[in-house]
Amino acid sequence: MNVPEIELSLIKYWKENKIFEKSVQNRKGGGKFTFLEGPPYANGKPHYGHISSRVIKDVFLRYKTMKGFLVERSGGFDTHGLPVEVEMEKKLGFKSKKQIVDYGIERFNNECKASTSKPISDFKQITERIGFWIDMEKSYITMEDYYIESVWWSLKELWKQGLLSEGDKVVPWCPRCETSQSNTEVALGYKEIVDKSVYVKFKCKDRDFSFLVWTTTPWTLYANVALAVGKELDYVVKEVKGEKLVILSDLHEKFEGKILQKLKGKELEGLNYEQLFTEVKCDERCFKVITADFVSTTEGTGIVHLAPAFGEDDFNACDKKFPLLKPVNENGTFTKDVPSLEGMDVRKAGDKIIKNLEEKGALVKIENYTHDYPHCWRCETPLIYYARNSWFIQVTKIKEKILENNEKINWFPNYIKNGRFGGFLNELRDWNLSRERFWGIPLPIWECECGNKECIGSKKELKEKALNEVPSDLHRPYIDEVKLKCKCGKEMKRVPYIIDVWYDSGAAPFAKWHYPFENQDKFKENFPVDFIEEGLDQTRGWFYTLLAINTALFGETPYKNVLVTGMVLDENGKKLSKSKGNFIDPNILIDKYGVEALRWTLISQVETWEVKKFGETAVKQNYNKYVLTFLNCFEYFKTYCLNAVEVESKNPLDKWIISRMNHTIDKVEGYLESFDAFRASKKLEDFIINDLSNWYIRLSRERFESKDGDWNEAASTLKKVLKKAGLTAACLSPFIAEHIYYGIEKQSVHLQDFPEKGEVDKELEDSMDEARKIIEAGRKIRNLNKIKTRQPLERVIITKKIKEFEEIIKQELNVKRLEFNDDFEEFTQEPFAYEEFEPEQYVVLDLTITPELKAEGIVNELSRRIQQRRKEEKLTVNQKVKKIIVEGLKEWSSIEPFLENLKEKVRAESIENGKANAKEEDFEGGKIKIEIVK
Ligand SMILES: [Zn+2]
Ligand SMILES: [Zn+2]
Repeated sequence: MNVPEIELSLIKYWKENKIFEKSVQNRKGGGKFTFLEGPPYANGKPHYGHISSRVIKDVFLRYKTMKGFLVERSGGFDTHGLPVEVEMEKKLGFKSKKQIVDYGIERFNNECKASTSKPISDFKQITERIGFWIDMEKSYITMEDYYIESVWWSLKELWKQGLLSEGDKVVPWCPRCETSQSNTEVALGYKEIVDKSVYVKFKCKDRDFSFLVWTTTPWTLYANVALAVGKELDYVVKEVKGEKLVILSDLHEKFEGKILQKLKGKELEGLNYEQLFTEVKCDERCFKVITADFVSTTEGTGIVHLAPAFGEDDFNACDKKFPLLKPVNENGTFTKDVPSLEGMDVRKAGDKIIKNLEEKGALVKIENYTHDYPHCWRCETPLIYYARNSWFIQVTKIKEKILENNEKINWFPNYIKNGRFGGFLNELRDWNLSRERFWGIPLPIWECECGNKECIGSKKELKEKALNEVPSDLHRPYIDEVKLKCKCGKEMKRVPYIIDVWYDSGAAPFAKWHYPFENQDKFKENFPVDFIEEGLDQTRGWFYTLLAINTALFGETPYKNVLVTGMVLDENGKKLSKSKGNFIDPNILIDKYGVEALRWTLISQVETWEVKKFGETAVKQNYNKYVLTFLNCFEYFKTYCLNAVEVESKNPLDKWIISRMNHTIDKVEGYLESFDAFRASKKLEDFIINDLSNWYIRLSRERFESKDGDWNEAASTLKKVLKKAGLTAACLSPFIAEHIYYGIEKQSVHLQDFPEKGEVDKELEDSMDEARKIIEAGRKIRNLNKIKTRQPLERVIITKKIKEFEEIIKQELNVKRLEFNDDFEEFTQEPFAYEEFEPEQYVVLDLTITPELKAEGIVNELSRRIQQRRKEEKLTVNQKVKKIIVEGLKEWSSIEPFLENLKEKVRAESIENGKANAKEEDFEGGKIKIEIVK
């Protein structure tokens, strides 16, 4: 069976017959179930994270369709920002932002734009191959003009509400990309690193002691302007190696020495100290001790050095009372204001700085410090904090409303709502929106020397106010050329910024429709959407930007239900990384096993939101277990059960499998209703493997294969069950389900309704459970006594009366008789052996092996060997052979009475004892040969 080939032919069938389109259109008139695609970045290749989240989306979109909803769905692509720019810089071999400017912004941006087409087509290809049904041709693309215009409209709305503001703030800064970042971006790039932290003393001018200061960023010492202590905190003056040092009382034990004096923080306020690095010019306002409330009492020394240009707390504490020393360039190197270090990268200058401190006699101690430090989420350079003029969205002003809207959202899993997500919302900071970059939506704000600023909300408005022609492409550098007329008479120029790319995707609910310029009805029908699903990392990303932007604009949450998916890691729990090469290209696995095994691995391993360990081993396992078992059930059906006429079977085993099927439908439906693809798939898999394949079909073999007796009852039962199983599986494993359902009904399973659960016979299922327990206990007895199942035994005794399935128990335990006897004591010694199958109820086997039973066991084993040989010789199931010759079987005479039966079973005209031309094999302690004469 070539599964990938089957899948490809199904894709072809779906495409040619427009089955996806029909599956949507057929539901017109039903209720709507709306969905919004979180746009992947159009750079690089689709990876397992993308595939995982797409597969899970697909499950619910298909499920809702089968439940009668109209589920219109289209894709989306994120095409701007650092992800695309950094990739392009790598391609062009650029190391700095200046190289882009030299290269030309127009050329650079055009290449960024062009670079998105390959990833978009890769995404389309993999989307089709994995069977994710979504209209990719109608995808929204964030770099399109219509999208940008909608974003401009929204920014103007925020502007009107006074939520868009400008100011000098300390922002996270990537010195390589030379741009500021938002908290969302910072949250994506934390990595654990070891830094050299230093304890440094600042000599007090007014008293005979020095202030002991601790910092993890020694380079900021060059920008020091003040020290901060806690007003009400207790400090001591301690003599350490002949030096008098001030340190927080709670932390003084870090240094050995004698305490000379105790004082309160407020007694230190206003004291002056000597500048550490006098080479940096500064005025007389500097170098004073102030009080602040953020001073840590658990780390450092309780005295914080303030460099307002490089720390948000420092900036706020200094509150413009001190000059802003900023001896660092935008690319993270020292300026000429620090002559001794000019041109050096601040984060690489550590050793030099430490040497400088030593020479000044200011260094007290060096300590390695391990911490999570933010890195650029695209280029992995450590970020610095940097004072900068920036544009912000004041989300803190609408924090209450955002929190309120979060309460209305159904989170799966629920604990994210007030946990990871709620926690992030509670710590909300204003959103740094402006970026000093090139490829993105230009910030539509124009400013004039007179201080007047204006925000533009549409192309029409821009055309009305522009002094020159408005370009057809709204990107930089064209838009930078547009000048507006200020009310003061002068020209207004656009600010040099583009906006944070995370804003782009957060605007998708309205911008994908070009709202409000077009499709107002479409927007209304789709807002808020019923369902979104993305990875856990989006709690600080898309889940947040969606909620923040749309709360600000519409006062509403933009999504009602959000399902979170876990990260995909390698088999050892390591991050999948191109450079480590610890994963196989998805297409290779798909070509080998088909995509269904991959889908099943991603759905059925762990809870949707848990981390998924993924690799070929797991895919292969699911291929063998679920995919092949399910397909083999269908192959078996095709071999033995075609042309069955539908009847209501009275056979208890048939009734049981129908009940189990209905039971499974009920459970699967319940799980899917609560967005639980994991339990739904587990339940279905358990049914297919344990109930259908290993139990029902196996136990019914004789009925299926003999074609007499109640063959039709069995065959039509299997047909019913496979059809229902196909319908149940359609949303979870759409390829296998289609192969099976279409194979029986000649109609697409994806145009059908989710199956009705039908009747469940609880009593019958309980009886089967009991029978299974009895069989299990009986098998255990055989194992403990080393008696193979093929060896028939005379009888099994059960201490409890059972209602059903005696025949199955006899068959499975290979015994002639089943007896009931509640007088258990009778059977506690040889030749009996027993096992408890439920509290105080026992299964007893009579282990006596008479010569007749022994002979029968040998015949069974011989029969198995012959069948095996037939398989090796590639004989078909029904193909007759002339003769089978057996050589060397010691017990030949004892098995003669069984030969008539055996002949029929192994489809041989005769079986004789004689000289066989075959290889020797071990048999029951001896050696035999078996020759098949065709
Ligand atoms: Zn960067
Ligand atoms: Zn003006």
